[in-house]
Amino acid sequence: MKTIQHKFVEFIPNYLEQNVLYISIEYKTAVHLCICGCGNKVVTPLTPTDWELRFDGKTISLSPSIGNWNFECRSHYFITRNVIHIARRWEDWEIEEGRVEDKETKKNYYKKQKKKKRKD
Ligand SMILES: [Zn+2]
Repeated sequence: MKTIQHKFVEFIPNYLEQNVLYISIEYKTAVHLCICGCGNKVVTPLTPTDWELRFDGKTISLSPSIGNWNFECRSHYFITRNVIHIARRWEDWEIEEGRVEDKETKKNYYKKQKKKKRKD
């Protein structure tokens, strides 16, 4: 079982350790090195339309899954209670579909936010 440690930090350090998820609440972001060992830095912004971080007092979970489609390794995994679950690699068309969906989700979210503001 592959695990990742988490560290709450104010600033994300320049030097990242493998298998550590750095979390900055201040900057609403989490950063770690791709778990496959390729050395690529993975940035997961914590926003209502990006990733959600759950901290149960002991372990952290990130959702949705992390898909490193822009890296050569194309690794795809879940971090659930500090345990890494390797997921299936997506096909090109799936990645494309996921991107379109993501855009739609964001568009709708910000539309709703605008409407809300107008009401207030
Ligand atoms: Zn990788």
